[in-house]
Amino acid sequence: MSAEVLVDQLTVRHRGPRGGRVTAVDGVTLRLAAGSTTGLVGESGCGKSTLAGAVVGLWPAAGGRVLLDGREVRVRTLRDRRWLAGRVQLVLQDPDTALNPRMTVERTLAEAATALVRLDRPRREHRVAELLDLVGLPSTTAARLPGELSGGQRQRIALARALAVRPRVLVADEVTSALDATTQAAVLDTLCELRQHLGLTVLFISHSLPAVRRVADRVAVMHLGRIVESAPAEAFFRSPGHPYTRRLLASLPAMTGALLPRPRIPVPPPAVHLDPLDVAAPPPGCRFHPHCPRGPRHHPERTVCAERAPLSPTTAIPTTTGHEVACHFPDDDAPGDTARTPG
Ligand code: SF4
Repeated sequence: MSAEVLVDQLTVRHRGPRGGRVTAVDGVTLRLAAGSTTGLVGESGCGKSTLAGAVVGLWPAAGGRVLLDGREVRVRTLRDRRWLAGRVQLVLQDPDTALNPRMTVERTLAEAATALVRLDRPRREHRVAELLDLVGLPSTTAARLPGELSGGQRQRIALARALAVRPRVLVADEVTSALDATTQAAVLDTLCELRQHLGLTVLFISHSLPAVRRVADRVAVMHLGRIVESAPAEAFFRSPGHPYTRRLLASLPAMTGALLPRPRIPVPPPAVHLDPLDVAAPPPGCRFHPHCPRGPRHHPERTVCAERAPLSPTTAIPTTTGHEVACHFPDDDAPGDTARTPG
C-alpha cells in the first residue's frame, strides 16, 4: 500500500563550521502523493540531502514537521525508529556505505529482511531470492561479495536491501550519480518498475535533470534551502517558470538539446555566473535576486525582490495547473529573462 508524505513548513538547522546554526532547509512544504515519484533538483549544497534526511528521521525539525500518512515523523525512541524504518527507507549515492564488503549478498539481504520481523530459514532464503528478482539480478548473485560486483549491481543490492523491510516510501538520494550512462538508465528503469510493482512513493533527489525527467511525475526545485518551483514533470520541462530553473536548464546544454524539449520561452545565456551557494549567509528577500534577470539587478524599480521573500510553492495546496513558482513577477517572461547587461 502506498503512503503519502507531507513536508509541512519544514526548517532544519545544522551546526555551522564556525559555531552558530546554519539553516539548510527553510520553511519547505512539499507533498509526495501516494504512489508517485517526485524529483527534487538543485545544485549541491542547496539542502536536498538535508530534506531527504529529515524525511527518513535523520535530522530533527527545527520548525514545521514531516507527516507520514498523517502521523508526525519523530524519532525519539527505538520504537519510533523501528516504526519509521518499516515504512521509509533511504538509498544513497554510494552503495558501499550500505554494504559490508565482508558479507555475502545473501547475508546482507537476509539481515535486512529480518531486521524488523522473524523469518525461519526457508522463508529467509525465499525472501532473498525474491529481493534479487525484484531488482533484476540472478539468484547466483546471492553467494557473491560486494567487491565481486559492478557498481550498477551494487546499487541494485543497496536497493534490494532497502526494500527488504517492505517500505512504502523510498528516498533515493543521487542513486545513479556514480554510474555510467547505460547503467544509470537501467537502474532508473528498475526504479520505475519497482515503484509501479510495489506501489512505492518515491522522493528522487538528483542534480541530473535528465535522470529526473526519466522517472518523476512531479518536479520541485530547491535553491538555498527553499523550494522555488514545483510542477508536474511534463509542464516543468516544457515551460519552466522560475528564472533560477531556467538558468539551471540553460547551464546544461544537453538538457535543452537532445534529451529535453527546448522550453518555449527564451532562456538566458549562461553568461552571468552564479556565486558559490552560501546557505549560511543567504541574500535577503528572494534569494536569487542578486542574479535574477527579472529582478532589481536589471529592473531597479523592483526593490520588493530584495526586501520580501516571495511565497514558496506549497505543493500541499496545488493550484489549478499544479505549476507553482516562488516569484514576485511570475508571469514576466521575455524580455525580463533575457539577461541584460547591467549598466
Ligand atoms: S522574486 Fe524577483 S528576484 Fe526573485 S525570481 Fe522573482 S523576479 Fe527574480
